[in-house]
Amino acid sequence: ILTAERGAAPAEPGKSIRHILAVASGKGGVGKSTVAANLAVSIAAQGYRVGLLDADIYGPSVPTLLGLEGRAMLENNRLQPMEAHGLKALSIGNMTDPDKAVVWRGPMAASAMTQMIDNADWGELDLLVIDLPPGTGDIQLTMAQKIKPDGAVIVSTPQDLALIDARKAISMFAQVDVQVLGLVENMSVFVCPHCGEASHIFGAHGAEEEAARIGVPFLGAIPLHASIREASDAGRPPATAISEISAPYREIATRVVQ
Ligand code: ADP
Repeated sequence: ILTAERGAAPAEPGKSIRHILAVASGKGGVGKSTVAANLAVSIAAQGYRVGLLDADIYGPSVPTLLGLEGRAMLENNRLQPMEAHGLKALSIGNMTDPDKAVVWRGPMAASAMTQMIDNADWGELDLLVIDLPPGTGDIQLTMAQKIKPDGAVIVSTPQDLALIDARKAISMFAQVDVQVLGLVENMSVFVCPHCGEASHIFGAHGAEEEAARIGVPFLGAIPLHASIREASDAGRPPATAISEISAPYREIATRVVQ
């Protein structure tokens, strides 16, 4: 979706964000936020100016994933994105008390998200990656309608249950005319760190087969790897280091950017 040159001026005068990519999943806990953060890092590593917006209002994980501490600041009544790992980032988790549940209804959640886009000093961005809340309810629909992303990436595990929900997420984007760029299969295969044997804990190639069946591109598979969880919990996105772990994120990022 980033067909324009890196660092080019925004397409519309007055708009500082050239493109918006939504990362969504039908189900929670499939690794959507981890994929969103590592895609953002990988695309930034290709020389693009990238922002990451955590719109997962009820379970913000971007502060943990990027190691963002403290509160997001306001200047002249505008939100100031934080900076980490070559990205700009804003999360509701840096605006609310982490120990208190956010109990907003749908319209408030959708309006918080649009404010985090329109009322924030992102500067000029080639791409804003938005980590949407899991599921396909009204909130997600309103969000997708309001922000009009250029494209959406759907994250699923190979497991049937997660796939059924991924199908719903795909049909949700179709309803609001947002192009689904493809499906990412996360936690695809577990490679034993001791013996090297590969185990398909959530089933083999489910997301890949599903993508082919419903006619959306398959963007790639990310293995279930303890070091992905460890680096993520430590606030170091695994895609920041060049390693066997970061390779799938970088390959998926290249497909998304095209
Ligand atoms: P979601 O956004 O779908 O709720 P998260 O991105 O928060 O899911 O991931 C849920 C948990 O799974 C986190 O602890 C994360 O570190 C871990 N995780 C995500 N992807 C992987 C992976 N490929 N291998 C190992 N752990 C993963």
